[in-house]
Amino acid sequence: MMKLVIFSDLDGTLLDDRTYTFDPAKEALNRLKDAGIPLVLNSSKTAAEIIHYRHLMSNKHPFVSENGGGIFIPKGYFKEGPFWIDMEEKDGYDIIVQGTPYQELRKALEELKGKGFDIRGFSDISSEELSDLTGLTEDEAVMAKERDFDEPVILGKDVDISLLKRAIRGMGLKYTSGKYLHIIGDNDKGKAVKDLGNLYTKNHGIITTVGIGDGVNDIPMFLNVDIPIVVRKSDGSHDETVMEEVIKIRMSRGIGPKGFNEEINRVIDEYQM
Ligand SMILES: [Mg+2]
Repeated sequence: MMKLVIFSDLDGTLLDDRTYTFDPAKEALNRLKDAGIPLVLNSSKTAAEIIHYRHLMSNKHPFVSENGGGIFIPKGYFKEGPFWIDMEEKDGYDIIVQGTPYQELRKALEELKGKGFDIRGFSDISSEELSDLTGLTEDEAVMAKERDFDEPVILGKDVDISLLKRAIRGMGLKYTSGKYLHIIGDNDKGKAVKDLGNLYTKNHGIITTVGIGDGVNDIPMFLNVDIPIVVRKSDGSHDETVMEEVIKIRMSRGIGPKGFNEEINRVIDEYQM
């Protein structure tokens, strides 16, 4: 049987854009678990946040934090490990680091402020303010501030975004857009999918990969999976840039976790009959 591996975004996809619930996706989540199909969370969120949701979902699979910055593999998960890569070790995980250290991103942010951009990073604000801005609980906001490889930017009024993007590129860094504009190094969700895909193949033979997301930061993931799926955003649209850049993408009818449920159930029906 062809083995499936599912890579999923969190914010706006598996988690509701505003309430962060994944209840509407529970049926599909249970079916994945019963069928032993790996679900790899691939998010711009921090490791602390993803570990929190992994726990709530009783998910035991690897995950990818901060837009590909860190690949976390539970110790012993792969028999044939990624021995050729330098890894860090923490809290029972082998970690493949692909991101730029947070300190460097912070330095870049300060430089951008010095150039007159009215911007703030997550580390500039209190967890209380972050909770107000995002709708995260205050505990979750604390976890969202534990960043290693990616700085989300809060834009002030009248920031020229194209000028800001040019300035970020000029510093040799990259940006991506989820709910926020994120400053990152040379990492993205697609590279992480490629690395993990190779590990699954090495250990389990031929696999079929699915990538499900809702936004621009999911494009590198979409371009590195066999079956890309875009879910509807809370305003009812499918992301315009995603639709332009990814050909042959499946589109959900439902919004966020409802779309996840519908499309992942469909994939399971097709591949695990
Ligand atoms: Mg998203």
